[in-house]
Amino acid sequence: MSFLTHLECGKCRERHDAAVPQNLCSKCGKPLLARYDMEAAKDAVTRDSWERGRDDLWRFEAMLPVLRARFITSLGEGMTPMLEGKRLATEVGIPNLVIKDESSNPTGSFKARGMTTAVSKARELGIAAFAVPSAGNAGAALAAYAARSGAAADIYLPADTPRGIARECEAFGAGVHYVTGLITDAAREVQARAARGEVFDVSTLREPYRVEGKKTMGYEIAVQMGWHLPDVIVYPTGGGTGIIGMWKAFAEMETLGLIGPERPRMISVQAEGCAPIVRAFAAGAEHAEPWEDARTAAWGLRVPRAIGDFLILQALRESDGDAVAVSEDAILEAQKDLARHVGLYASPEGAATLAGVRALVDEGGVERGESVVLFNTGSQFPYL
Ligand SMILES: *Cc1c(COP(=O)(O)O)cnc(C)c1O
Repeated sequence: MSFLTHLECGKCRERHDAAVPQNLCSKCGKPLLARYDMEAAKDAVTRDSWERGRDDLWRFEAMLPVLRARFITSLGEGMTPMLEGKRLATEVGIPNLVIKDESSNPTGSFKARGMTTAVSKARELGIAAFAVPSAGNAGAALAAYAARSGAAADIYLPADTPRGIARECEAFGAGVHYVTGLITDAAREVQARAARGEVFDVSTLREPYRVEGKKTMGYEIAVQMGWHLPDVIVYPTGGGTGIIGMWKAFAEMETLGLIGPERPRMISVQAEGCAPIVRAFAAGAEHAEPWEDARTAAWGLRVPRAIGDFLILQALRESDGDAVAVSEDAILEAQKDLARHVGLYASPEGAATLAGVRALVDEGGVERGESVVLFNTGSQFPYL
């Protein structure tokens, strides 16, 4: 059973009704976040109850937004492995290095986590047609979960997106639309259709419940590491739902009495060819200026403007974290190393975290004795 009570604006804190479909805050235009009855949840959620149960992320149902279990649309997402890579750890110089491998999710990336919660909640609220702008993985995940629940999906992809993704979306029965430009251009088309009432827009953070699915990565790390969070979490950042979600998860777990006040340092990794968050973090800015002429082969990181920028930057700063940009060459080299030393055919975004931790070790941002979790957010397969 879920303890969801309402939605709250992440900026102006205005309260919104969770019983009707919502996108951005009607008052200030910023993302909405789900809130729960934490007092009541405290009695129901214990360490013990989260150490057992379903083998997917719906184990954390009490802190997820679906009120009636029959609307849960699941393909067995989440509860992904945490892999040690001894040879890699030795080479990097961080013996306690672990990879949370999200490539084992349905459709090969952690986008499944967000789409299982977004589609399930929207189906509960009566929505039957979805659309999303995507660099690839979000589209494939939406297409799969829409198919699973018998709903329609339209996927808007930048024209240079690898064709394998489009074929996968079509196989799930989704409509595929190519758009000239970047994901921000695709987003405009989706917003126009949503404004005409034709589809429900499930873009990153314009839809409030994808981040709820993503936050379960934070819950899982706690459960899988015996309730001791690592010193450092390294995460590839595009729209930022993973960072924002995990940061929210840690706060919720502390309120529930599951963990103490200690937090990992959150490290955001971006590509040198598109690093708006890195630039804003270094400048001490509250918001990130849009990145001009964004270029990187890590498609999921080619996000020139993130609507949740202020929430990402908040999480990085509150955690005493950092933001680093890595080169395309460093990403490619890291991808090879993950394959040869760990047995993971990682996406470039996932490989970027290894490149990021290497840069941090070089500049003293991470020390040898610290425990570090890297996120391999997806598989390379969908891009082939
Ligand atoms: C979407 C995506 C990202 C970026 O994730 P955010 O949580 O939106 O920052 C990273 N890696 C992969 C493989 C992705 O598909």
